[in-house]
Parts: sequence; C-alpha cells; structure tokens
Amino acid sequence: MNASLKPDGTTLQQVKLLIDGEWIQSQSQEWHDIVNPATQEVLAKVPFATAAEVDAAIAAAQRAFQTWKLTPIGARMRIMLKLQALIREHSKRIAVVLSAEQGKTIADAEGDIFRGLEVVEHACSIGTLQMGEFAENVAGGVDTYTLRQPIGVCAGITPFNFPAMIPLWMFPMAIACGNTFVLKPSEQDPLSTMLLVELAVEAGVPAGVLNVVHGGKDVVDALCTHKDIKAVSFVGSTAVGTHVYDLAGKHGKRVQSMMGAKNHAVVLPDANREQTLNALVGAGFGAAGQRCMATSVVVLVGAAKQWLPDLKALAQKLKVNAGSEPGTDVGPVVSKRAKARILELIESGVKEGAKLELDGRDIKVPGYEQGNFIGPTLFSGVTTDMQIYTQEIFGPVLVVLEVDTLDQAIALVNANPFGNGTGLFTQSGAAARKFQSEIDVGQVGINIPIPVPVPFFSFTGSRGSKLGDLGPYGKQVVQFYTQTKTVTSRWFDDDSVNDGVNTTISLR
Ligand code: NAD
Repeated sequence: MNASLKPDGTTLQQVKLLIDGEWIQSQSQEWHDIVNPATQEVLAKVPFATAAEVDAAIAAAQRAFQTWKLTPIGARMRIMLKLQALIREHSKRIAVVLSAEQGKTIADAEGDIFRGLEVVEHACSIGTLQMGEFAENVAGGVDTYTLRQPIGVCAGITPFNFPAMIPLWMFPMAIACGNTFVLKPSEQDPLSTMLLVELAVEAGVPAGVLNVVHGGKDVVDALCTHKDIKAVSFVGSTAVGTHVYDLAGKHGKRVQSMMGAKNHAVVLPDANREQTLNALVGAGFGAAGQRCMATSVVVLVGAAKQWLPDLKALAQKLKVNAGSEPGTDVGPVVSKRAKARILELIESGVKEGAKLELDGRDIKVPGYEQGNFIGPTLFSGVTTDMQIYTQEIFGPVLVVLEVDTLDQAIALVNANPFGNGTGLFTQSGAAARKFQSEIDVGQVGINIPIPVPVPFFSFTGSRGSKLGDLGPYGKQVVQFYTQTKTVTSRWFDDDSVNDGVNTTISLR
C-alpha cells in the first residue's frame, strides 16, 4: 500500500522541509505518522531528514547570514511587525490544527499561539533591545562602547507540548537579532509549527534566514555538532536536554536547555479557598498535565490538609473529551506511548502505598474510544521517595503531600532537584515575602499557579530544570543570541601632544 494514501484514497499530507526559502520534499526513507491523539487518525507524515538535507539547511543559513546580519534593524523589526499581524489573523485556523495534532482544547491551543505571539510582539522592539552601552571618557579622551552583534546560525529544537509557543520563543528573536536559524520541531506535532513558519515566510523572512528540518536524534545530534551552528536552544525532557547541552557544549556552541519539572504549589490555610482550589485544579489538569509549568505537586500546610476532599470534588467535575469538543477541560495525552508511561507511574504510586483518591485510568470517552485519555487522577499520602513524586509524570496526575509548617514546605520544595516553577497560596504578605526570598526555584507565583513570565521578562527556570545561564525570550535571549563586542577608542586631533612610547600597563 502506498504510505501516502489515506484509506479513502485521498493523499496524505507529507510535511515539507524548508531549505533556502524552498519547500522541499524530503528524500528520506524514514517517515513517521502524525496522529490525532483523540482518534488515532493519521493526519500527515513527517520525514526524518537525511544528513545531506540537514547540511543543506545549515549551509543555506550560513550563506543567508552574510547578508541578513547587515540588514538594518528597522527592516528586521518590520518583518516581525508583519509576522505578529499575520499570526493574529490566522490564530484560530492554526489552533484547530494544533488541537488536532496535539490534543489540547481549542481554547488552550489559542493560548499556546497567543503566548508565542507575545514574544513576536516583543521582538518588534528589537531596536531598543539590541542597543549597546556607551561610556564617555573612561580614560583621557578614550570612550568605551559595546556592540551587540548577531552570532551566526542558531538552531532550535522544540518539544511536543507547545508546538506554537516554543518555536516562537526561539526563531523570531534569533532572527530579529540578525541571526539565521534552523528549526527542528517536535516530530509528534509539527503541523501547527509549520503554519507559523509559512507565516514567517509570508511576513518577509528572506530565503535561508529561517530553515526547518524534521527528525529525531540523528538530526538533533547533527545540529549540535555541525561546525557552522553557533548556538542551540533546546526545550524538552531532562534526559534529552542534558544530552543536547553536553554534546553541543562539547562542540563549542552556546547552549540553553529548558527541561523537565516538578512544580509544587504550597497552600497555607489562610489562602482564599475557592480561588486556590480553582487554580490548583486548572494548573494540575489543564492541557492534561502536559505543561512544563503545570502544578504537579500540591503541598497542603497545616489546616489546609482539610481541603483535600474539596480538591478531589473539583477535579472530579472536569470534562474529559476530545480537544475539539466544546466544553472540554481535559483532552487526551499526546500518544499511546505517553499514556502507557503515565499509567505505569500511576500503578507504581498504588504499589508504593500512596492513596489513589481519584483514578482516571479507566475513563471512557463516548465517540473517542481510541483516544489516549486519562481522567484526572489524584494521589494523597505521597512521600518523597515514591516514583510519582520523584518522576515528572507529564499527565493529568496530581500528587498531594502534607506538612505542618511553611518552613517544612520550603525545605521540601528546595530538596526537590527540579526548579522550574512553584507557587504559594496565602493571604499573608509576610509569608509570601519569606517564600519568595527562601525558595530555590527560578519562577515563583504568589496566588498564581503557572507563573510563566511575560516576554519582556525572561523564562527563568532553574536548577534541574535548566542548563545554561540565559533563558528564553526577554532581555536574556537577546544576550543569548548576540555577541557583545566592546570597543575602546581614542581619536587624535591633528595637533594632539605626542604621548611617546609607554611600556607599562596604563594606570589611568
Ligand atoms: P523530548 O525531550 O522527548 O523531545 C524534545 C525534542 O528533542 C524533540 O524535538 C525531539 O525530537 C528531540 N529528541 C527526542 N529524543 C531525542 C534524543 N534521544 N536525542 C536527541 N533529540 C531527541 O520532550 P517532549 O516529550 O517533546 O516534551 C516534553 C518535555 O519537555 C517535558 O519534560 C517538559 O517538562 C519539557 N518542557 C520543558 C519546558 C521548559 O521550559 N522547561 C517547556 C516545555 C516542555
């Protein structure tokens, strides 16, 4: 059977590569299915690009860099202005595709696109973001100033869970800074990413400035080791992110690697009860728990332990259905493999003695019997040695621990190796201030369950959730995507006094 034919005889879309401004049909022998997680319908096929295709993409980016780096900043900015307008215009259409290939609800898919759009909006300020510094007369008649110059060809490797937002964390700002880019989207759901790339081309990104190759480990490793790649941005799991950081670092590249998480929400008994419970359930089970900033651990402090039945009751009310169905709260998880892994972890929790308060394993969704659904699952009595605590589950599973004091809660969070996000729920300013000061996690929410900073700040996950100093978007990413050159200059008047030869280091 021809792999490119659907059962109804129509042709199945084969995802293209983008190399040097051309949409290329890959010559690869290896093609993977892009599957709707609610139905198992094969939506399209994605190639795992050949080594020659990856080389061609990098070569195109390297050629384009020679002219793109000289393109005036205003011209780069105007392309970003056009791109943000196009994304806004096409957001609803892309959200439908994103929901179909990823599983999240249409509203959440629109949110995924919107959070990426905000980064593009910020890239429109590149004129001021990329400014250098100037100090006059640092020594007699000497001035020092910095230039923020693009670094060359940058690569981006993105995960399945935000196929719009995370590619938009990367290529717009890299390109706005004057770099060229090779993007490797998630092979699980590249269709919505490709729609955004099409819009970038329509917005005027020149040939070779943005290239896309698809694939898995071989393609990623090629990007991490190629001599012409200067920087690698990675977002994904801890295992792969560590590999990318090590490999690309060993090959002399600048690397930023945003990885897995276990985000704790600490609940004090003085918190606003309804708002807090709403926040926990929304952040724990939204996107079926497949957000790197999802709340995955709830720490009930003192009398807040009594809130467990209410938490359970609220979680139980969530509607599990295909993301395309109106009123859905929780869609399917991305793949059968992901579902099997989550089910194994739930099983381990039961075996290791946690109390399964809410069991989403056997959920049936009428009309979507083949979907990768798991209903909201809640464990209490969890201890820090259990796998459901030590592992990132990345599914609709919330684990609840109990402690007596805020100090104990802070110690618990700080002892966990991950440091992506955390939240405190309280009405006490003093407790909030203590928490934000003592907690060793890079992104803190005070009565905010998913404290992802807006793009004029930067994404600042920490410890086991991040390798590399500089995070995505905001000022940090401008530093990441530029090389600071410091110029120290002195100009002589024709009648200036001859200083003579000086062989000592200057004492100023
Ligand atoms: P993943 O690590 O499996 O895949 C990420 C990328 O790496 C994909 O493009 C994939 O093709 C590639 N890849 C997969 N296996 C590889 C290998 N062996 N060698 C080289 N490359 C490989 O991650 P995922 O499952 O797509 O995404 C979920 C993970 O991403 C979760 O751990 C989540 O916490 C994390 N994440 C983190 C952030 C953050 O900002 N910290 C944001 C979103 C997602």
